Amino acid sequence: MTYHIIDSHCHLDFPKFNRDREEIIQRALNANVECMINSGIDYRTNISTLRLADEFENIYPTLGLSPMVAARKDRYDIDAILSQIEENMDHAVGIGEAGLDYHHYTDSHLRQNQIDVFHRVVEIAETADIPLVVHARKGEEDVLNIVEGLRCVVFHCYSGSLETLDKIISAGHYISIPSLVCYSNHHREIAWNTPLDRMVLETDSPYLSPRKNKRNEPSHLVDSLPVISQLHDTDEKRVAHKTAKNAKQIFGI
Ligand SMILES: [Zn+2]
Repeated sequence: MTYHIIDSHCHLDFPKFNRDREEIIQRALNANVECMINSGIDYRTNISTLRLADEFENIYPTLGLSPMVAARKDRYDIDAILSQIEENMDHAVGIGEAGLDYHHYTDSHLRQNQIDVFHRVVEIAETADIPLVVHARKGEEDVLNIVEGLRCVVFHCYSGSLETLDKIISAGHYISIPSLVCYSNHHREIAWNTPLDRMVLETDSPYLSPRKNKRNEPSHLVDSLPVISQLHDTDEKRVAHKTAKNAKQIFGI
């Protein structure tokens, strides 16, 4: 079967890949993963993401400020990260991951920190007219409201309700389906309710492996194809083609 797929969200710069990074990337290319979008989450990983993209031509960077960092802003220099994003925007294909995580943060003060910082990230994306990759966990509705003025938003690893999913799709944004679709019924429902022309695929490597007790890697993206093609009653090639085309359009690659 000849097809090409794109891993629209991963973290290959993370230390978990220090041992065999090059091998992992080669394995992805051999598994028809033609390129990978690597997302930074803070100052340090934004640097390593840019470096990785410099080193490997199939890796494209997005620069982020994750809600985990935003929540604990007293421990991080938020202004420095925001300036870093702005200054390096020409070298990136998008901003993110950034957003709201109410799952890990229930405290209202910490949530407010996330909201304040996310507004600033969205402002940068809006001014630069660059795609935004959002991380939303239990804060999907709030994220959707805050990104209202943006042209292109990808909901990375969308795990919210089907009602909010409909609103996101109607707003013209994209849903990124993670490898979780291989074993989570909720993610299958989400994939089933997402039209192929609004869908991209991701592994979120090294997290969320579809293969038990294993570190996730972009080559595992192929595991999602039979599941999604069955849900959409179509062939794997069409799922691969449509989702890769969307990713290319979103990130201009
Ligand atoms: Zn991620």
